[in-house]
Amino acid sequence: MSKFVKSTASKYKFGAHMSTAGGVSNSVVNAHNTGCNSFALFLKSPRKWVSPQYTPEEIEKFKNFVKEYKYDPMTDILPHGQYFINLANPDEEKALKSYDSFIDDLKRCESLGIGLYNLHPGSSLKGDHPTQLKQLATYLNKAIKETEFVTILLENMAGTGNLVGSNLEDLHAVIDLIDDKSRIGVCVDTCHTFAAGYDISTRETFQKFWDDFDKIVGLKYLKAMHLNDSKAPLGANRDLHEKLGEGYLTLKFFHMLATQFDFLQKIPIVLETPQDNDDGYGEEIKLLEWLENIPEDKKLVNDKEFMEKYDTLQKNGAKSRKEQMTKFEAKQKKPKRQAGTDIMSQMKKKAKK
Ligand SMILES: [Zn+2]
Ligand SMILES: [Zn+2]
Repeated sequence: MSKFVKSTASKYKFGAHMSTAGGVSNSVVNAHNTGCNSFALFLKSPRKWVSPQYTPEEIEKFKNFVKEYKYDPMTDILPHGQYFINLANPDEEKALKSYDSFIDDLKRCESLGIGLYNLHPGSSLKGDHPTQLKQLATYLNKAIKETEFVTILLENMAGTGNLVGSNLEDLHAVIDLIDDKSRIGVCVDTCHTFAAGYDISTRETFQKFWDDFDKIVGLKYLKAMHLNDSKAPLGANRDLHEKLGEGYLTLKFFHMLATQFDFLQKIPIVLETPQDNDDGYGEEIKLLEWLENIPEDKKLVNDKEFMEKYDTLQKNGAKSRKEQMTKFEAKQKKPKRQAGTDIMSQMKKKAKK
C-alpha cells in the first residue's frame, strides 16, 4: 500500500529524486508510493565510473511499472548525471573519460524509453572559459548524433567563474553552439539560482528572472526544474539545498511558484531537498499541492494556517540559516583578489607607460 497517493488534481508535475536500490525499476515503484507526478533517479552509481548494464528483464520491469503507474517516460522522468562528469575539462583525457560515462548514461535513458536527462555542465577549471564552453558543446553535439531521442538538460549552477552555468549567459553560449536544438534544454534549480545571486524571492524579482531567462536563453528551452530551498543567503555561491520553507526562499516563494507561474505546469518539478527517507518527499509534495490551492489573491499574512506553517518551517531552519549567514558575512569581509581589480591595476600600469 502506498502511503502517499499521487494527485490527479494537481496542475503541476511535482516529484522528487528517487532511490534505485535493488534495481532501476524500483525507482518507479518508489515514485508511485511517494505520490510523485514526476521523478528523478541516478542511472548508475553516482560515485563509480563504470557500472554493470541493465538486464533485459530489468528494462522490461521498468517499462511495465512506468505504464502501470502512468508516467510518461518522455516528459515525467528526469535522470541525473553523475556529478564528476565534466565535459568542459581542459584535460583531454579526463574529458574523454567523462564522455564515456555520459554517453553510457544517455544510452541507458534510451534503453528505458526516457526522454530527458539532466547534466551539471561542469567546470572550465584552469582553462579559458569560452574555449571550454565550445569543447562542451562539441561533446554534446557528438552525443546527440550518437543517440536517437533523449534531450539533454543543462542545469544552472550556484557558483561563479569557472563553473559552467552559474549565469544565464553561459547556458545561452552553449545552446547557441548545438546543431540540433530540439535535443537540448535547461533545468533551473531554485537553490542554485538564488545562491548564484539571482534574487527570485518576490513576485517581481521572480518574474524578472524569467524575463531575463527568456531574453538570454529562451523560455522554450526550460524543460524541468529542481525545487529546493537554500540554506545559504542570496549570492553566497554555496550549493546547499534546504527543505522547503526552512531556507532563505521561504514558504512564500513556493506558494508563489505553485500559483502564479502557469508555464511551469507542464514540466517536471523535482525535489532534491535533504530528507532522511522518501516519506519526507511525500510530505513535501503534499505541501506543494496544498499551497497550490491557496489562492494567490488571498492575503497570505491573514491566512492563519499558512502563517503557522510558514513560522514553523522558518523556525526549523533558523540555526542553519544563521550559520550560513555568519560564514557569508565573514567571506564578504575578507579582502578579495578579484579578477576585476586585477584588470583595473593592470590597466593603470599600462596607462602609466
Ligand atoms: Zn539540482
Ligand atoms: Zn545542488
